Amino acid sequence: MRIPLDKIGDEPFVWRQQLTVNADSLERPELLRLGEILWQGSVDREGEGFRLSGRLEYEQTVTCGRCLEPVLRSVGSDVRLRLLKAVPAPVDSDPVGSEIELTEDDLETLYIEGEELDTLQLVREQLQLNIPMRSLCSETCQGLCPTCGANRNSESCGCDQDEVDPRWEALKTLRDE
Ligand SMILES: [Zn+2]
Ligand SMILES: [Zn+2]
Repeated sequence: MRIPLDKIGDEPFVWRQQLTVNADSLERPELLRLGEILWQGSVDREGEGFRLSGRLEYEQTVTCGRCLEPVLRSVGSDVRLRLLKAVPAPVDSDPVGSEIELTEDDLETLYIEGEELDTLQLVREQLQLNIPMRSLCSETCQGLCPTCGANRNSESCGCDQDEVDPRWEALKTLRDE
């Protein structure tokens, strides 16, 4: 989605777009699949720059952090940004940025080079942020058996779960010495 900033006058620029992003391209192994993404929003003129309000809606499939089964989740996230034209560094005057610091809200500011904003990078950053550090298929997921690797949600493998991991045994021996 390319937003022609130089063409925005009194009326906001409004967009609504379906796009697909290859899950592999985000290089997060826990992300298995991304559904079609609905990306919509508007850009208004505001002061020296613009204000962007957008929303992303899609489904993502990630692996459960315990049992490694795929977990499908709906995601909706809002994007709010102030857009300012990137100003070349002044040669020998007061810092141009001083005025920019005096904003009344804490919106993040994105500096734009040129007359157009390509939102794909913005979308990709949001997709990254929306991948949870750790997902669970359910709060009560039993995970994999540490001994035989069986998925304990669907089978009872009969391994002795009180069995101490040999690595802990080794540590204990070290500590006792
Ligand atoms: Zn699970
Ligand atoms: Zn087992």
